[in-house]
Order: sequence, then C-alpha cells, then structure tokens
Amino acid sequence: MTLRIYDTAARKKRVFEPQDPARITLYVCGPTVYNHAHIGNARPPVVFDVLRRLLMARYGEGAVVYARNITDIEDKIIAAALETGVPIAEITQKYAAIYNADVAALNVIPPSIEPWATAHVPEMIAIIEKLVRKQYAYVGETGVWFSVPSMPDYGRLSGRKPEDNEAGARVAVEPDKRDPADFALWKFAKPGEPEDAIWDSPWGRGRPGWHIECSAMAEKHLGRTIDIHGGGIDLVFPHHENEIAQSECAHGQELARYWMHNGFLDMGGEKMSKSLGNIVTVHDLLKDWPGEVLRFALLTAHYRAQLDWTEDLLKQAKATLDRIYGALRRVWEAEGGRATYRGVHEALEDDLNTPEALAALSAIASAANTAADQKDTEMMKATRADLLAAGKLLGLLTLTPKEWEQGGNSDENARIDALVQARVDARAAKDWAEADRIRKALAEEGVEIMDGPGGSTWRRI
Ligand code: AMP
Ligand code: ZN
Repeated sequence: MTLRIYDTAARKKRVFEPQDPARITLYVCGPTVYNHAHIGNARPPVVFDVLRRLLMARYGEGAVVYARNITDIEDKIIAAALETGVPIAEITQKYAAIYNADVAALNVIPPSIEPWATAHVPEMIAIIEKLVRKQYAYVGETGVWFSVPSMPDYGRLSGRKPEDNEAGARVAVEPDKRDPADFALWKFAKPGEPEDAIWDSPWGRGRPGWHIECSAMAEKHLGRTIDIHGGGIDLVFPHHENEIAQSECAHGQELARYWMHNGFLDMGGEKMSKSLGNIVTVHDLLKDWPGEVLRFALLTAHYRAQLDWTEDLLKQAKATLDRIYGALRRVWEAEGGRATYRGVHEALEDDLNTPEALAALSAIASAANTAADQKDTEMMKATRADLLAAGKLLGLLTLTPKEWEQGGNSDENARIDALVQARVDARAAKDWAEADRIRKALAEEGVEIMDGPGGSTWRRI
C-alpha cells in the first residue's frame, strides 16, 4: 500500500515519498504555554500522533524524527507574567508540564524532540541576519521587519495575496512598516516589559516574533527541508506562510515537502476558542472521562473535517470502547496470533481516514465476539492480534480489559478485589446473607460483580 496524504500546498492528496526513508522528519507547531489547553488544542497533537505511529509502523520506530515545539515567549505569556508578577519561566514550565501530562493521558507519545523557543534565540538571530543581508528584511523604529513584497511568490501555501493581508487595517498598522503586509522578525523591547522577556540582538534589545521561532527550531533539529510540517488550519495563514517566507528566502530551499492541517473542533456551533469562551479544558475532561475516550472521540471525524464536541459524542465513544474492550476480554487468553490489521492500516494510509479505521476496529471486535461464541481458537488468536495491532496504530486499547473495566486507582481496586474475595468466601461458607450484602454494597458504589466459570471478576458501570 502507498501512503497518501493531503498536501495543503498542492491542494490535493499526494503519495508520500520521504527524502530519506531512514530519517523521516516531522515538525508540528506546539502550544503557547500560559494556561490550560482546551480539547480543541489537543486535536493537533492527537492527529499527528496517529500520523507518527503510522510512519513508525511503515518505516521503523527509529526512522521517524518528530519535533513539536514549546512556544515559551509570546505576547500572551508576557501579559500573564505582568498580570500575576510571576516570572515567565515559572509560568511556562508549569503549563508545559500540564500540557504534556494532558496529552500523555490521551496516549500521545512524547515527540522525539521538544525544542523550547527561548533556547533558540541565537539561531533565530542568525536567520534574521541573513534576511537583512539579502535585503528580504529591514530594520525599522519598532523592530526588524520581513518585507513581504521582496518575495515574489509569497502566499503560495494559503493562496492569499499580500493585499489580502493584515492591511485590512483593523489591526493598527505600525508606522515604521514599509508595507502593511510586512511582519515582525524581531520586536524591540517597550518600556515596562519584564527583563526576562528581553534578549540582546545586533539591532537592539527585544524579543523574536512568533513565526521566526518555528523556522529556527525546525532548521536546527530537522534540517532546512523537512518532510512534513503540520498544525491546525488556522496556522496556514499567516504563521506557516511566514515560516515559508523566512526559511526559504534565507536558505534558498523548500521548507517542507508536505503541509498537513487539521480542521477545527467546534462547540455550540463555533470554533472552540478561549476568546469566545466556549472551551472545555483537557484537564477538566480527564476528571470525568478516561483519556482513551477523549482520544477516540477526537478520531471519530476525519482530521481535515470540522468536529462538534458534545456530551453525546463522549457517551458514544465510551460505549464503543466498552464494547471493543468487552470483545478483547473474551479473546484475551488467545495469545500467539498474527496480525493482519483488517482494514485499519489501509484506512489510515488513505490520508489518515480515522473514521474508517475506527469502523474497521469495531468490525474486528465483532469478529472476536463471533470467534469466542463459536470457540474458534484460531480466529480468537487472530482477532486478538488484530485488535492489539490496530489499537497500537491508533493509540487505543493500551489498557488490559481488566484495567479498562475496573478503572480507578490501584489502592481502590485492591479494596474492591478484597470485597469480591470476601463475597467468594461467604458463598463458599454458604453465608448467603453476607454474600448478598457485599454484592449490594458494591453495586451502590457502581461496581458490578460478574460470576463466571473462571471465578468472580468485577467492573465499574
Ligand atoms: P492556540 O493556543 O490558539 O495558539 O492554538 C494552539 C494549537 O491548537 C494550534 O495548532 C491551533 O491550530 C490549534 N487549535 C486551536 N483551537 C482549535 C480548535 N478549536 N480546533 C482544532 N485545533 C485548534
Ligand atoms: Zn510554528
């Protein structure tokens, strides 16, 4: 099978051909860390985690070099520092750790490299120096600007022309810009800005613009031309367009060979976003739902499609996963089968078609149930292997069926195990009243005892 991905720049699906199959480079723009991530912010890390798993399965685990940055210097972070009086590094370290814990709970494998913007200021300055030298950039009163008219094919990715740009003039147009479309490479420090947001540069003290951060980090860790560059659809313009302008004018070579962008997560009919206030944080969702349910819900739509986040979506994701884990439990002991994936791999190779892949996963679960009903050992082995292999590709079914059904923490589970055992003992001693009391007490806390030929187990309902 060939892997085909939709390339935003080409506006069509293209067969993926890496520069070097032994070193596939993937760069995804990471979070700006100054508050809790909402579930919309989790869509890019989850989507690109599926891509990364697929690339690892195809080219080998060690062949994929995945960089996802941390933007730890930016206007919103500075505003948060000024407002709270907390040092910038303290804010960014706190929220980067929360972000990483949140996405880890969604089974996102940590990136191979997590570059932090503030650790790359010399590399950013080096690119800006080159741009100034080649006259793609100029020094103004308030900062160093990239001159958009100096690049003839600016706008190639988004299809937007410079005249469509910020010139639309709701944003205040800085008087030192030569053209309204020009954008900041370096911003000079303004009075009152915190010292920990200021760096020296050949042009004056200040801080980098947002776009130059990614150009510098991608070049340093992945090289001047990367295989795949990804992010949310809102990054196409201006962020990615400007990354292209900076990197390509500085180095004279293509920044990325394929561009991939995920669509928006909506809630209440609008894009989930902090400014509209229609957000729900990953942190809060994880109090009520297992991480796999959130991940499954995010993958129910194709990554380029818009997805509505509703309570119903979560309930359905939970019910489907319960059913799949239930099937996995029935074939759990049938080890040693060989995986064929049955459609899951193929669906993902067609531009990450996760809705189809999840449907194929459900079909494997049905086949596992049939195999268990018919006590077809070979089929049980095969479906078990398929469920686990497909689960690994999708980042699902990472728990044992017992862990899934029991959830909770281990102390709590040990207490329930002990009560279930006490009930087994009471039954053995024919103390039916005691056995019944324990069963009822557990039912009241939402724990169901399941008596079977192999003994008694339990699950949370
Ligand atoms: P922001 O914090 O707005 O800079 O967003 C961080 C990342 O999350 C970017 O890659 C955005 O494209 C992405 N993002 C933000 N909001 C949404 C949303 N509602 N749906 C999908 N992706 C989003
Ligand atoms: Zn970026």
